[in-house]
Amino acid sequence: MLSLLVGLDHSMHTLATIVRPMPLWVELIQDIAYLVAAVLFIFGIKQLSSPRTARRGNMTAGVGMLLAIVATLYIQNAMSLVWIITGMIVGAAVGAVLAIRIQMTAMPQLVALFNGFGGLASVLVVGSEYLRRSDDITLPITFDQGLTMGLSVLVGCVTFTGSMVAYGKLQGLIAGRPRQWSGQLIGNALMFGLSVIASFWIGMDNTAGWTLLVIAALSSVLGVTLTIAIGGADMPVMVALLNSYSGIAACATGFILDPPNKALIVSGALVGASGIILTSIMCKAMNRSLANVLFGGVGTDDSTGAAGQQHDDRPVRTVDAEELAMMLDGVRKVIIVPGYGMAVAQAQHAVRDLYHLLEKAGTEVYFGIHPVAGRMPGHMNVLLAEVDIPYDRLLDLDQCNPEFETAEIAMVIGANDVVNPAARHDKSSPIYGMPILNVDKAQTVIVCKRSLAAGYAGVENELFIAPNTLMFFGDAKKSIGDLSKALTEQ
Ligand code: NDP
Repeated sequence: MLSLLVGLDHSMHTLATIVRPMPLWVELIQDIAYLVAAVLFIFGIKQLSSPRTARRGNMTAGVGMLLAIVATLYIQNAMSLVWIITGMIVGAAVGAVLAIRIQMTAMPQLVALFNGFGGLASVLVVGSEYLRRSDDITLPITFDQGLTMGLSVLVGCVTFTGSMVAYGKLQGLIAGRPRQWSGQLIGNALMFGLSVIASFWIGMDNTAGWTLLVIAALSSVLGVTLTIAIGGADMPVMVALLNSYSGIAACATGFILDPPNKALIVSGALVGASGIILTSIMCKAMNRSLANVLFGGVGTDDSTGAAGQQHDDRPVRTVDAEELAMMLDGVRKVIIVPGYGMAVAQAQHAVRDLYHLLEKAGTEVYFGIHPVAGRMPGHMNVLLAEVDIPYDRLLDLDQCNPEFETAEIAMVIGANDVVNPAARHDKSSPIYGMPILNVDKAQTVIVCKRSLAAGYAGVENELFIAPNTLMFFGDAKKSIGDLSKALTEQ
């Protein structure tokens, strides 16, 4: 980072000594920097689509952002290099501490905070641009700029307060239960409609700065009422949607700046589009419509989404660590299906040890990854990558399902809804139609969890009483650790 900054600093000063500072050149350099940044963002997103290249993708997009920041602040002469570097060091230090300290299961709330601050930043930029231009008669605010300012404040404030509520629910500071009341939808529509009218107002009369305050107030309430109506466990979907909103707000803000900021427009559009694509993928994988997530009021009081305990009197067959170790002896193919419980138990290291033991014994081991296993997209991929499970062992839904028929053992570790066969045939089930991992097609199914309690969707799982299923009760970390110990000792 520093070498890039120093390099740019050097080239700018060299440029200044050999030619008279020419705004056209500065503009050209800035445009090139923005173009390179946009290309890096796009490549970064592309690399993020595979676990193999995801870390590199993060880095690529980060370099793009650095370039965009330098091009905006330094080349445009907005502030001195000392301030830029100070800001970067402070920001990087806060980011590094957060990244190191945050638990994997708390990632959705961290993303919610990021989105919220993104939305707030857009609102603040709009406010300062309005004040700057209302004082400067050489920079009149046109109709479309005024309208865009209003819409940017609208989306930015919804993003900010909505994300704060999402954070509160995910962190357990606010009850996860969806809060709905009569007239809520009409109230939301009214606040939205009035904010849009106020945006047109400031477009037509750019001296009416008060309308921005009205929009900010209405849309801040709207963000709360929209998000509070959604159950805690549906929050990751809302967070993806709010992520998209924060991009839209940034994109709109890029247009109202004078001169318009191309990096903000491009990066905002990319975040807006990728957020909405992610939202749609998550809804599809849960077999839910976005309207059902936003207005369906699905969920319990538990922000983790672990729906209440169920009656534990169903006839189940159980297995203990020693018996399971014996069953695994000489087995040719095992498919492990991790879920939310593995994340909660932080059992990924124990699972990695088990994987090594089985591989050493000549067993082929694969991991079946459901797109909505856990509580955020890619949750299982991240946990398994953290413990260096080779990528070629991770099979997605379509790759994995044909493999179950030839697997002697399917081992479900802390997963529930994503392996519930009711999704295939029970039309009355809330998860009917959700594509699942067909673990029940394996010769024997081992289910490692603490009880017969339901998962996020709150529905009983007939897999637990299937004739080829054995329940391996206990906390995933301890149970899998005990299993590895038994395997080593036998
Ligand atoms: P589920 O939430 O269906 O089930 C998780 C299971 O883990 C529970 O039944 C629980 O059973 C068990 N568990 C909890 N703690 C432990 C522990 N310490 N040790 C062992 N087991 C434990 O998880 P899935 O991953 O199968 O499904 C994810 C669900 O979340 C889906 O319904 C999906 O639609 C939803 N969802 C996913 C999102 C995503 O992006 N991934 C976003 C929003 C929702 P017990 O208490 O008996 O141990």
